[in-house]
Amino acid sequence: MLTLHSPLRGWCSSLDETPDEVFAQRLLGDGVAIDPIGDTLHAPCDGEVVSIASSKHAVAIRADNGAEILLHVGIDTVALGGVGFESLVQAGDRVRRGQALLKFDLDVLAGGAKSLLTPLLITNGERFSIANVCAGASVDVGDVLFDVVAVDGEIAAAIDGSSQEQTLGFVVPLEHGIHARPAALIANFAKAQSSEITVSAHGRHANARSAVSLMALGVKHGDEMTISARGPSALAALEQLKQLVLGIREAPHAAPISAKPGALSPGGARDGGSLRAAQDMAQLAASARRGVVGDAGTVHAGFGVSGRSEGDAGGERAVGMLPGAAINRLRGVIASRGLAVGRAVTLKVEEIAVVEAGRGIGHESAEFERARDVVRTRLNQLAEHSQGAAKEVITAHLEFIDDWELVASARRAISRGKSAAFAWRRAVRDSADTLRALGDPRMSERVDDLIDLESQVLLALSGEAPVSIPMLPDRAILVAEDLKPSQLVSLDATKLTGICLAGGGPTSHVAILAAAMGVPALVALGPAVLSVEDGAWLVLDTEQGALTISPDQTALAAAEQTLTQRRQRQQSERAAAHIDCRTADGERIEVFANLGSVAEAQVAVAHGAEGCGLLRTEFLFLDRDSPPSEEEQLQQYQGIAQALEHRPLVIRTLDIGGDKPIPYLPLPAEENPALGLRGVRTSLWRPDLLRVQLRAILRVRPVEQCRVLLPMITDPAEIRAVRRMLDEVRKELGVAQLLQVGAMIETPASAVIAGRIAREVDFLSIGTNDLTQYTLAMDRGHAELAHRIDGLHPAVLNLIAMTVDAADEHHKLVAVCGGLASEPAAVPILIGLGVRELSVVPTLVPQLKSLIRTLTVEACRELAQRALTMDTAEAVRALANDAMAPARGLQPAD
Ligand code: PEP
Ligand code: MG
Repeated sequence: MLTLHSPLRGWCSSLDETPDEVFAQRLLGDGVAIDPIGDTLHAPCDGEVVSIASSKHAVAIRADNGAEILLHVGIDTVALGGVGFESLVQAGDRVRRGQALLKFDLDVLAGGAKSLLTPLLITNGERFSIANVCAGASVDVGDVLFDVVAVDGEIAAAIDGSSQEQTLGFVVPLEHGIHARPAALIANFAKAQSSEITVSAHGRHANARSAVSLMALGVKHGDEMTISARGPSALAALEQLKQLVLGIREAPHAAPISAKPGALSPGGARDGGSLRAAQDMAQLAASARRGVVGDAGTVHAGFGVSGRSEGDAGGERAVGMLPGAAINRLRGVIASRGLAVGRAVTLKVEEIAVVEAGRGIGHESAEFERARDVVRTRLNQLAEHSQGAAKEVITAHLEFIDDWELVASARRAISRGKSAAFAWRRAVRDSADTLRALGDPRMSERVDDLIDLESQVLLALSGEAPVSIPMLPDRAILVAEDLKPSQLVSLDATKLTGICLAGGGPTSHVAILAAAMGVPALVALGPAVLSVEDGAWLVLDTEQGALTISPDQTALAAAEQTLTQRRQRQQSERAAAHIDCRTADGERIEVFANLGSVAEAQVAVAHGAEGCGLLRTEFLFLDRDSPPSEEEQLQQYQGIAQALEHRPLVIRTLDIGGDKPIPYLPLPAEENPALGLRGVRTSLWRPDLLRVQLRAILRVRPVEQCRVLLPMITDPAEIRAVRRMLDEVRKELGVAQLLQVGAMIETPASAVIAGRIAREVDFLSIGTNDLTQYTLAMDRGHAELAHRIDGLHPAVLNLIAMTVDAADEHHKLVAVCGGLASEPAAVPILIGLGVRELSVVPTLVPQLKSLIRTLTVEACRELAQRALTMDTAEAVRALANDAMAPARGLQPAD
């Protein structure tokens, strides 16, 4: 059986639509008609060119099975006498499917032809019929149009298994269902298939090539989803798609602001966007809500910070006058932390007006494509220069600009006579309404992206600059009703000092981007902020959730002074970051960094890290189709070892499973993956992967720079099993050096029997993120419980104390590499409990070292002992603040 593929990009319709009786009544044969976009006609199959019309507007091809196919560009185009056409082949030529046959000038055709509709039909209908026709859909060059079936006895074959609809059903395991990223992955897969795939759920159907339509199905975790397709390779494609969906890994979901890789970057640095960053930042974001993180992710080096929360800041919104001065003060909700002093730059965005009626289908189609090209090109340029959260937003926009259904819907409207602008706005708003109606906050974020993209295309259609943002003066604080992500990423970040929005939400993309850029931002300030005059001085203190408008000289000077002090403090911390760290009474505390890549190792060394206390190797295993080879792993580990310049490198073996599944390693379905095959359990379940990893580690030179750390240990037997393999591999490779082996204490079980575990290893490293999750029985990514998942809970602290005591008995070192080590409020308590090595977020090394230098072990011990007896985490935090603030002489919120 022969399958014909689209010779054009455009809208495929039934021949009935052709404004010519000869075609509409199929007098020449059966087929379809395509409303073209673009300027080239391609071969729909392999075959031989039988004839080319003298006026070049039509080409006939004989396929290898004898089917004769006519391609007729436009209706009544013969009258053009060849003007606007250029043949690229000659009669008698052998052509391959997809080969260019003919070029045409769409403008000439649009001006001179009755219609651009291009019929493609089988002219020897006595021998062949057509089946599985694709009509009423947008097509690209190469998409399947229909099957050509020989009528002499082969009709049965047309209805055989390959052309029957194939269907697969399964339960969606993804924690957040089919949200934007899985939808994009499915759409990309579907676009590469020759069979059209339909996804169905909740009685609704979506073309799998459209991410927007897939999201609009509202598929949630545990929902039934059915995928179906026709065509020769349908079943194989469906099977692959099913595996793709089942294998999609979700980023560890965390507090909204930091849940996105790279969303919140310590010290305002633009982060590479790794999931590792998301993990550490998730922990810090939870701290931020407890009031211990400032400056868009920079930890305050002090205990004087009061436990303000976003809720405190955003709970009220009031306009008031400060006593004694004519100062307006507005309150908003924190979107990105920090302090900014600058001048207001107001941004007023007006709704773009569109006219409904188009100026001809050809004109509007061409305009639509031009505008999308303009926006796509600009987005691609932006994507090249952005990273982290900004890149994510741009990637979402790039996905939507070519979304199958959005584009098809707009094209349909254009073919009904609407203007391109009207058609695009209608298509976007219909999709946005559908997504909004799902009531899912993740989808609402996508609505923002869609509306953003709507205006980008409308502006491109109107010929205006894509983003109507004023040029920023130095120290600009942007004041607006709302801000679109695309507008924010186009701003000059070196000039932007702060953002104040009347509307918006703390978890919006703009909030995530602002945090990633290190720009303090308040949202939901209310309409009063819009009356701020351009150029007015503003003090934006997001820690206090407050915007002060036109402060008097004294208030302005005070804010400037605070800013200067903070900068000076950061500078002096950086200057001292390379000096060994000791407490005020001389106890050596090593400050290492948690890493996931070579780039992070370089950052860590620049910030004074004394080594790597946790290399999360699993991030080398994600975002790929197959496990990294031994060579690839060796290259990464060697690169990191070199970047660390002989400092110790603690390499954690693969910690996948649970919240970090990988596509090519389908784990058995688990009711509760956090309690399933995770950490070292996965490695022992797939020893082949572990062996390759151990070989790569043992090939790093100098090998003694490396230590091996085993995640999620629950008993000594697991350690012995890995040690056996390590010995075997060592012998295989002829490595005499014995590597240090450590166990992560991340489960209450391992803390309770820490003594028995310590006997088996050279060191222990406490993973407080998981230890807190498992001790408190609270999912570490649970947004509702985020403010309660606190590693300073006395239960967790008591387990840490037990671990350190047990390790001491066996003279083994205990490090902490979980997020608690990066929290200033926790550091004195950890030191007081006996921890002597911390592994932290790389950019926080300077602040934490400077904090440690102010502490005495004695005071820390006293504090820790009292903390162990507290009832709640809040009580421990209050204790830490009370005990340490006066000693350090710090001002609150300094
Ligand atoms: C931890 O659990 O504290 C830890 C460091 O491991 P991860 O965050 O990678 O699970
Ligand atoms: Mg862990």
